[in-house]
Amino acid sequence: MTTHDAHHVDAVVVGGGLAGLAATYRLAERGARVALVEKRDRLGGSSAMSGGWFALSGTAVQRRAGVDDTSDTFLADMVESGGGFADEKLLRRLVEREGHAIETIERARAWTDELKVSAGMRVARAHLVRIPELLAFLEQQATQHGATVWRANAATSLAWDGSRVVGVRTEHAEFHARAGVVLTTGGFSRSQELIELFVPNQSGAMPYGGAGNSGDGLRMAWMLGAGFADIGHVGGTYGQHAETTDEEHELLTANYLGAILVDADGDRFTDESASYKILGTAVLKRPQRLAHQIFDAVVRARSRPGVPLSDMERIDELGHLVRAPTLIDLEEKLGIPPGRLVRTVDAYNEGVAGRRDDSFGRTGLVNGVGALVPIATAPFFAYSAVTALTSTYGGLSVTPDTAVTRVDGTRIEGLYAAGELVGGFHGASYMTGTALTKALVFGIEAAHTIAGSGHLVVSRSN
Ligand SMILES: Cc1cc2nc3c(=O)[nH]c(=O)nc-3n(C[C@H](O)[C@H](O)[C@H](O)COP(=O)(O)OP(=O)(O)OC[C@H]3O[C@@H](n4cnc5c(N)ncnc54)[C@H](O)[C@@H]3O)c2cc1C
Repeated sequence: MTTHDAHHVDAVVVGGGLAGLAATYRLAERGARVALVEKRDRLGGSSAMSGGWFALSGTAVQRRAGVDDTSDTFLADMVESGGGFADEKLLRRLVEREGHAIETIERARAWTDELKVSAGMRVARAHLVRIPELLAFLEQQATQHGATVWRANAATSLAWDGSRVVGVRTEHAEFHARAGVVLTTGGFSRSQELIELFVPNQSGAMPYGGAGNSGDGLRMAWMLGAGFADIGHVGGTYGQHAETTDEEHELLTANYLGAILVDADGDRFTDESASYKILGTAVLKRPQRLAHQIFDAVVRARSRPGVPLSDMERIDELGHLVRAPTLIDLEEKLGIPPGRLVRTVDAYNEGVAGRRDDSFGRTGLVNGVGALVPIATAPFFAYSAVTALTSTYGGLSVTPDTAVTRVDGTRIEGLYAAGELVGGFHGASYMTGTALTKALVFGIEAAHTIAGSGHLVVSRSN
């Protein structure tokens, strides 16, 4: 290891998205000397591209909106969303520590009043947070407390002294970490090789997420015998236009406002109120791997300008909202075989009117909540969307205090992980907003674990 002082630190954090910035900020605030190394020339990763929805319970935003929610309900919903596959110990720690996330968002002045029910929730628990403000706050606080940030400097391997992880090798330097290394490199949505290896059924999904998210942290920990969790459940998200760009993620889930989904042949194929992860996998099996969101003027009026997933104005501006005076015209514009869309909509409307059971068991707008509406008021609209692999929610096995564990469950001393590269939280499905919450809560948790590990000699006074 080099003897250059800037490279001898208490902790090295690898990856500058939300989890990494949260760990760096809290470590630096606790007086630790921290180096944050980032692969790309700018920080942010998938966090900066995200919709900014955080799943949180017991917040002031919920109280103001009259929503009664508790950490017990939140926990129960996450357990249910995970279909019995998520690690309850991790979820329990998440709700025990969600206060750290709430307090940090407060300090960053990043709250909005936007609150909604989304996938996996029985009450309105998805909070829209101004993610650019939150990330900027964390970076500013971290550097103000002396953390050094190294951009365009990808970590390539972990240094192991025979009993613990003692540092990180990067493209341009070697860092020695007295107290620990925190991996926060995000997922592997940009690695076709790992997608083919772990989840070949998702290889038809559009690769998305942070451009640097190619699973580097997984590989580095894997070299030291790390275990994996949830990896086979990784699934793409339905709802993006095929021409979405890295600069602007174009995402609409009008189905949660009352639209139905039909495939390229004009047929429904699923309960549209299910998690957009479940929908993502279902859409990959349909012709042309796409589904049209079909809705009418009533649902169109439910658009929320500026609110990710519900903003139809922006989709319209981008020229991607198809509009027609009748369903027959809409069908023609979409290239659906004649008569199919009208038949599908008629059958759906019969179900909404209570004259028959819904063919796919749909009973609500989202997750069983919200009254269904018929698709009946002109003009009619369509948004054609595909499945994108925005995030890969399976990954390293960890303890609730963020230590990476080997395949036999023992801790890899000196190695911690937080954020999207960690498995065990989501199980078979995904509750909207839990990825950002998990990144923030467990980035902070990793910092607290290192601070309490006995290896941290506070090297500066603040
Ligand atoms: C378009 C989109 C919308 C989303 N919306 C939501 C939402 O509304 N709510 C929600 O909960 N989740 C959402 N997600 C998922 C969520 O954003 C991510 O799971 C979360 O931000 C991951 O945070 P992270 O800190 O773990 O990783 P990231 O924010 O991806 O950060 C990882 C960082 O590590 C860097 N890195 C990678 N390899 C190396 C290396 N070898 N050396 C150094 N640095 C490295 C990357 O460049 C990146 O900067 C969304 C994702 C996308 C793509």
